Amino acid sequence: LSDRLSGIFDKLTRRGALSEADVSEAMREVRRALLEADVALDVVKSFTDKVRNRAIGAEVVKSVTPGQMVVKIVHDQLVEMLGSDAKPIDLHAVAPVPILMVGLQGSGKTTTTSKIARRLTERDRKKVLMASLDTRRPAAMEQLKILGEQNSVDTLPIVPGQTAVQIASRAINAAKLGGYDVVILDTAGRVTVDQELMAEVAEVKRQTNPHEVLLVADALTGQDAVNTARAFDEQVGVTGIVLTRVDGDGRGGAALSMRAVTGKPIKLMGVGEKSDALEDFHPSRVADRILGMGDIVALVEKAAANFDADQAAKMAKKMQKGEFDLDDLAEQLRQMQKLGGMSGIMGLMPGMGKMKNQIAAAGFDDKHIKRQIAIVQSMTKKERAKPALLDAKRKRRVAAGSGTDVSDINKLLKMHRQMADMMKKMGRQKGGMLGKMLGG
Ligand code: GDP
Ligand code: MG
Repeated sequence: LSDRLSGIFDKLTRRGALSEADVSEAMREVRRALLEADVALDVVKSFTDKVRNRAIGAEVVKSVTPGQMVVKIVHDQLVEMLGSDAKPIDLHAVAPVPILMVGLQGSGKTTTTSKIARRLTERDRKKVLMASLDTRRPAAMEQLKILGEQNSVDTLPIVPGQTAVQIASRAINAAKLGGYDVVILDTAGRVTVDQELMAEVAEVKRQTNPHEVLLVADALTGQDAVNTARAFDEQVGVTGIVLTRVDGDGRGGAALSMRAVTGKPIKLMGVGEKSDALEDFHPSRVADRILGMGDIVALVEKAAANFDADQAAKMAKKMQKGEFDLDDLAEQLRQMQKLGGMSGIMGLMPGMGKMKNQIAAAGFDDKHIKRQIAIVQSMTKKERAKPALLDAKRKRRVAAGSGTDVSDINKLLKMHRQMADMMKKMGRQKGGMLGKMLGG
């Protein structure tokens, strides 16, 4: 996808730095893609803000196109927000190291418990004990026992009638006596977050003082997973997240949201039902996946369609020659409108920061731009080519024709004069900076 994305961007004129126009339209589609990928709204917002700040004005390295540059920035920002590289389960503690598994019912706690146990046993040569604290579903303890037998991992013998806390301390004791390196406590879940569940989990945590509290969350539940993560982190406190069902066609958006909301690292991913379907979390891979979803491509098509490179080049030539009349101004205004941003074309040019601020101060919203265009349209062809012709009488006529005041006409003329002056100056600069900027 990244190739296609930058391919489309290649159609855009190559410039020295990414402009606000390059980025703005792109961000709109990235935003939509992220929402489609199930990323929480506020996370999407802070993400696109960060990318925007990072991207605008970023130098396009010589060997890459602006498109490749934007893709890279979006990707890098995703990776950064997802967390640096994979953080393994931390076992640096006195054995037996307790690990507490928490999460909603059906999120994959029991499955993940046995996956982790298997991995620690086979790969890290640890002696692992698993214990089910799920006193609510009669089959739950049996399920863990069977998984243990399948993977040659010991489980705590089942004693009926005990509370979760009692089982937990029995597990810790058994692990100490049995010389285990790690003891994994698999808790009960509920369909939704409730106080009783939270209180039970919190109490188990107090009693066992686990070295890791891993929140198991189903990647397919999207937005709900985020709320769950927040609740567990606030009320129990987690040290890491395991994302399950990453093999499904979930879009990875949950990962980004959970990470952003809790700030806790995603340590592992479940990628299937089998007990070896467990992988380290790789931010870069998940970023690719998020990038691959939704219609990021559509963006860029839109942006490319909106940005008329020929038009820009023609404009640049005129500016260099110091020919910038009111028709050109109107054209710029229309471009701005199309690009959906107040600084549209002005944003393409370095050294125009001051002007950009003035435009912003003038309140260049859509309505305002429309009015300005209307003013120009109410002028005669001669007036547009030679604004000096506009005396008081003509101004009154234009104001009446465009439904504005003479003061509006004056403001527009003043802005035009400033722009024309600035452009003349820039046009005269050595090497024709404007021309370069606009691909001329
Ligand atoms: P618990 O209620 O949180 O203990 O959830 P379970 O561990 O019993 O898992 C519920 C269901 O999800 C089971 O059918 C598991 O096989 C399935 N499951 C768990 N993790 C994954 C995963 O990473 N991928 C897929 N496809 N299924 C999973
Ligand atoms: Mg379970």
